[in-house]
Amino acid sequence: MQILNGKATAQAIIDLLKIEVAQLMSRGAPVPHLAAILVGTNGASETYVASKVKACNEVGFKSTLIRMEEDISELKLLELVRELNNDPDVDGILVQLPLPAHISSEEIINTIDAGKDVDGFHPVNVGRMVQGQPTFVPATPYGIMLMLEHYKIDTASKHAVVIGRSNIVGRPMSILLSAATNPGNCTVTICHSGTKNLKEICQTADIIVAALGRPGFIKEDMVKEGAVVIDVGITRVTDATKKSGYRISGDVDYASVAHKTSYITPVPGGVGPMTIAALMKNTFKACAMKHYD
Ligand code: NAD
Repeated sequence: MQILNGKATAQAIIDLLKIEVAQLMSRGAPVPHLAAILVGTNGASETYVASKVKACNEVGFKSTLIRMEEDISELKLLELVRELNNDPDVDGILVQLPLPAHISSEEIINTIDAGKDVDGFHPVNVGRMVQGQPTFVPATPYGIMLMLEHYKIDTASKHAVVIGRSNIVGRPMSILLSAATNPGNCTVTICHSGTKNLKEICQTADIIVAALGRPGFIKEDMVKEGAVVIDVGITRVTDATKKSGYRISGDVDYASVAHKTSYITPVPGGVGPMTIAALMKNTFKACAMKHYD
């Protein structure tokens, strides 16, 4: 069993990006600039945005964090997005999800300029991804693909089972793994809350991507000997022994599953840092595209 070290792999990507930023600047381009909008004070969202801003600082990108009150109207938020669309100094825009219930995420995402949509959620970018055209690939599945590539994991003709069908993780993951690419070229089964016999399906998987948000859901008896297990889950679980009062749990029961796998991602330190690194790559691309394509 080999642990897929997301922290180290992400660092390698960040280090390479630092060099690319320096090269871009030596050709007269401005530093890539990511604008992040955070609505409200959700604890998990605060943490995610903070790590994105921190990564920008590390790579040498400019970042702007725009905080908005929880009760901001959809109209006001749309106005802000349009302002950023029109700001030539801004290369990438991300709106941290989830948004408060009174705001339509769909409406907001659809309003982001597709050329600045570094989260890759705009329908134009999703369409491009489905067709295998150059685009911004959503950061979490992109990060997982980069990890598979980094560790040279052979995915061709393998049976990949993706659990979760969200637009952010599960669905794009299933598309990327089924594409005629390397990594990729898998036979993909996508499972969700309506799936029957999930355990039996998982038992036939060469690769499992667990993205359902149910702590410790994947148990030892669901995993085939030698499978690759990618744990996307991040759930805060109450833990009185921690200063914060909680710990982070993945979707895989790591303690019982790890010994059966050929490769497995830990939580934390697996998919999380790769997601951030992938977002940085998308932001760099948004800037480079604007100035040199
Ligand atoms: P989501 O709630 O939008 O989607 C969850 C999916 O899981 C749904 O499609 C649902 O059908 C499926 N599901 C739920 N219960 C199920 C069950 N019992 N059996 C089979 N399928 C089931 O969540 P999401 O945004 O896709 O995120 C999934 C998890 O990944 C969460 O824990 C989230 O915090 C985490 N996440 C991590 C990163 C990262 O960087 N590591 C990034 C994004 C999301």
